[in-house]
Amino acid sequence: MDIEPEVLALIQRAKRVTILTGAGVSAESGVATFRSYKEETKESLWSRYDPQKMASIDGFLENPNRVWQWYQWRRSELKSKKPNDAHKAIANWQESNEQTVKLITQNVDGLHQAGGSEDVIELHGNIWRNHCLQCQAEYKESVDGVENVIECPECGGQIRPSVVWFGEALPEHAWRDAESASYSCDLFLSVGTSSQVYPAAGLAALAKSQGATVVEINPEPTESLIIDYTIAIVASQFFGGLRR
Ligand code: NAD
Ligand code: ZN
Repeated sequence: MDIEPEVLALIQRAKRVTILTGAGVSAESGVATFRSYKEETKESLWSRYDPQKMASIDGFLENPNRVWQWYQWRRSELKSKKPNDAHKAIANWQESNEQTVKLITQNVDGLHQAGGSEDVIELHGNIWRNHCLQCQAEYKESVDGVENVIECPECGGQIRPSVVWFGEALPEHAWRDAESASYSCDLFLSVGTSSQVYPAAGLAALAKSQGATVVEINPEPTESLIIDYTIAIVASQFFGGLRR
């Protein structure tokens, strides 16, 4: 399926583009998505684990080492993953100065940066960073091979991965930037996200309320009513199609 000429023209005409990406953008890099199935195992990243235990403050407090070890496992899985054509095309688009292209991601894998994007609004944090649960200080030492939760050198608190867990607020500055990027765009591209995780999922509606056109790129389109155009192809094919 090609991108309809009408949509292509719309994308080319837009002055300010805001892109929101989700786990689907990293799927072609071999990173398991949140809800969809992983080809080889027929299991999603979370089906074997209780998200409430692995990705919540209560789960961490109940068993910090178990949660820490799960993140160490995820990091070891992610280590060999490379940015794909979608990540690279977005980075190139941001660099070409013809349009203002803002990038918001729900992904924590750092693949947008690895693909060359310098400006990434990370709504859900970044799995490669850690900070102290108690004093919030960033922990900058390498945690490679560290099996159990470490103590903060500043205050003795527990060091945790810097990702947003269920029930936690989004980083304030990231949310502010995401809101303003959504408010001020004339085209909002929602790519590879199931749009079920709020408040991120509300950004498209925010853009639309300010007059932006909302386009979804997802091989399994969501049923959101606010979407103006749906392009049911994988992310790399979409961004590849823009170049022609
Ligand atoms: P999700 O797993 O809920 O949805 C992924 C969506 O991507 C699905 O709708 C699927 O149809 C679509 N998709 C699959 N392959 C695609 C492709 N090649 N191109 C385009 N779309 C494709 O993911 P979400 O909406 O991002 O929400 C998941 C939450 O879990 C987020 O909060 C995120 O922080 C976290 N998470 C992050 C990563 C990561 O960093 N890579 C991975 C898993 C989960
Ligand atoms: Zn501390």
